[in-house]
Amino acid sequence: MKVILAEYLGFCYGVKRAIGLARDNARADGRAATLGPIIHNPQMVSRLESEGVGTVESPAEMSRGDTIIIRSHGVGPEVYEEVEQLGLQVVDATCPHVKQAQMAAHRLVSEGYNVVIIGEKQHPEVKSIFEWSGSKAVVIDSEEEAAELMPCAHMGIVSQTTFSGEKFNQIVGVLLSKSNDVHILRTICTATDQRQTAAIKLAAEVDLMLVIGGKNSANTTRLAQLCAEKCSTYHIETASELRSEWFDGIENIGITAGASTPDWVIKEVYEKCKKK
Ligand code: SF4
Repeated sequence: MKVILAEYLGFCYGVKRAIGLARDNARADGRAATLGPIIHNPQMVSRLESEGVGTVESPAEMSRGDTIIIRSHGVGPEVYEEVEQLGLQVVDATCPHVKQAQMAAHRLVSEGYNVVIIGEKQHPEVKSIFEWSGSKAVVIDSEEEAAELMPCAHMGIVSQTTFSGEKFNQIVGVLLSKSNDVHILRTICTATDQRQTAAIKLAAEVDLMLVIGGKNSANTTRLAQLCAEKCSTYHIETASELRSEWFDGIENIGITAGASTPDWVIKEVYEKCKKK
């Protein structure tokens, strides 16, 4: 059986940077924590915990002088105000690409545009972009929702960084009929595009795709959806989920992984598949 890794897979620049910053700011006294899980990967979260970086759900759980690490998804302006008032030390690991999307939404609103964010409403990154729009943007993730929007004089469009490039183009196609002045800022990051393109290419060449990453990771779930359009696909978090029956009659297996999947998890799956 042949096992092929996608050309681009696993940790992206923003995640590597966030984990590096968290590790650099670990505290032996246990007074450092990320605001929400550092990335959507439970294995990595446990590993960081053992290194002295915990997780809190709200800055209010921390005390003056504690170190709070803002994860790569970013947060809205109110959170920066809150952590300052609480006297916390802030380590901002917001991915620069996410920052760019946040600032784009902020600027477009201040320039008088009706801002549309193309992304998943419940995703923390999208929430942070929404908050930087002064909570004035509309969030949509389908052509149907785009079709329902009222026409307006000036429309500004930004995207969730991990949104599918193809779907973004389709939605923008609908939005173009809603205004004579549409300002498009395609804030999809290259890491996402590269991983999606490589996954689709590989999925078209193999019998089975394994997509590794947190079940709550938006970009991993998106990779799994795209691969499933080409071949039989399983979304797994670790090698322990692999089932022998999946490999019956399979000659070629492709492997990809989300931007928040650690290398050691990918390696484990790869090694186990090689032994099948
Ligand atoms: S997927 Fe892109 S935007 Fe998101 S953290 Fe990685 S590099 Fe940053």
